[in-house]
Parts: sequence; structure tokens; C-alpha cells
Amino acid sequence: MLRTARLILACLMFTLSLIPARAQDSIDIVLQLAPRPMPTAVMVESGTRLELYFSSLKQGGLGLLRLAGDGIEVPSLDFLGRERRFFQVEDDAWYALLIVDMNASPGLRQLTVRADRGLEEIGFRRDIRVDSGRFILQEFDLPADRAYLVDRAIEAAEFARLDEITSESGPEPLWDAGGFGLPLESETTSPFGAFRVLNDGVETRHTGWDQRAPNATPVHAMASGRVAFAAPLEIRGDSVVIDHGVGVYTLYAHLSETNVTQGQAVDAGQIIGLSGNSGRSSGPHLHWELIVEGHWLNGLDIVALWLPS
Ligand SMILES: [Zn+2]
Repeated sequence: MLRTARLILACLMFTLSLIPARAQDSIDIVLQLAPRPMPTAVMVESGTRLELYFSSLKQGGLGLLRLAGDGIEVPSLDFLGRERRFFQVEDDAWYALLIVDMNASPGLRQLTVRADRGLEEIGFRRDIRVDSGRFILQEFDLPADRAYLVDRAIEAAEFARLDEITSESGPEPLWDAGGFGLPLESETTSPFGAFRVLNDGVETRHTGWDQRAPNATPVHAMASGRVAFAAPLEIRGDSVVIDHGVGVYTLYAHLSETNVTQGQAVDAGQIIGLSGNSGRSSGPHLHWELIVEGHWLNGLDIVALWLPS
């Protein structure tokens, strides 16, 4: 019996090895379509379910909410003093990303969810724990020819410009079933949220992740979407911003070359540019960011998150 099973397995392995590379690629893609995980908490009110897919959130973190039930109309949530809309996924339910600014105070914070169902109004309330992001402190020296970029006014102007660039997102997610991945695989050289002291004086925050990347390393789109910006910025240097819908953007900075233009649709994993050392940078590397509704968040959270599409 065991011998027969082994023989069948051996034949199966042999047959699989004969499948051409392209067919194997499509098998890989199917395997990446992970089913929705179990929620960590469920609340039910008049037949409407609110599901949470996290137990607590860190400063700069994000989590997923799902609202399911018949006839729900334009649900919204209130959290940390901001109102957010849910987005609808056809044949499934309503979803929302719950986001925590990196400067939010740790502690219990109230989440309120409201939805209309016909003439009835449904409401949920729950305390969400916000934990410390455990951000580190780093000191950096910029080369003399770029020291002029250590300037609060230049930094404020760039944030204002990025606020504009990242405020045009549509109401539907543009990512595909694979969700988000890393823009390249390499060692982290500086984490998200670090408190930084530049050139012995100016204090700032690290709004993304830095990864080791020799000059001209290919940089991949973290998810599918549309190019919102592809041009030089003063601090971030040559940059690409991708709009992934529902207020979610990724940004790739200090590039030596950009391969995309504004308005262009991009696929997950597509090469959007090459790493470099442009802007306020002290050596070739990739700096990448996640921006959701004007908040700079920990991009690794969205890579780890199961997302509907
Ligand atoms: Zn950086």
C-alpha cells in the first residue's frame, strides 16, 4: 500500500517537472490567493457583523475591518478624531483600513462604526489598544553639498506637496488579489518612524523604510495601481508615487532612473525605476513609504495584511 502511494507520488512529481515554466508560474499565482483569515474579534448587531482582523495597533500601524450584512448603506467609522468611509467589495462585504498616526498617543482609543440599513441605524463601539511603535533614535550626517536640504521649510513644503499628490485617490481598491509585496529584497538599514537628528541639529522623523541597494537596483511596484507622480522632489530626489485606490499610496525615493510616467497603470511587481542616491541621501539606497489618507504609516503592516480585492 505504502509502496503504491510512493509510486503514485513519484509519477506525480515527474509529471509536474514536465509542466513548462509558464504553467508553473500560473500555479504559483493561484497559490498566492490566500483565503480571508479568521477575524480576531466579531461583533453582531441586528444581523450586521463587524469583524476586526487585529487585536491591537501600533503607532504608525494599520489594521482591517469588515462589515457584513444585507442592505448596508455607506457605512463610516470614527477613530482618533477622524471619520473614514468603508469601501465595498462586490459579492463580499464593506471594508475599511483602520490607521494610527505615528504620533498618536498610546492607550485605549474608541472606535465607532455607523451604518444605515433601510430606516434603521446600526452602531458599534469598541476600545482599540494603541501600542508604542518603539521607534529608535538615529543620528545622520549629510554630505556638505546636500546640507542645505536639512531645512524645516523645505521639508514642510515637500510634505504639503505630497499631501496634494496623495489626495486624489478613487473609492475602489486598485491592488490585485496578491495584495502588497516589498519593492526589493534586501537588508533594512533604517526602520520606519525613527527619530532622527541630522547634521547635529535638525530633528525629524523617518517616514519610511531604508533598504540596502547598490546604485541602479530594480525597484518594483509594491502592488498594482496608477502612477500619481514620477518626477524629482527636493528631499526625496527622483521619486515615484503609486495610487492604489481608497487613499492608499506607496512612494519610492532617491531613484537614479524612473521607468513610468504619471497616469500610467502599473502591475504589482513591475519595475518602476532604479535605485540611486538623488535628493537628501548620504549614499545609494532605496527609501520607500506607505501613505494612507495623508498619514505616513509602517509599510510592513500592509505587506503583512490580508486584503480583499
Ligand atoms: Zn529613508
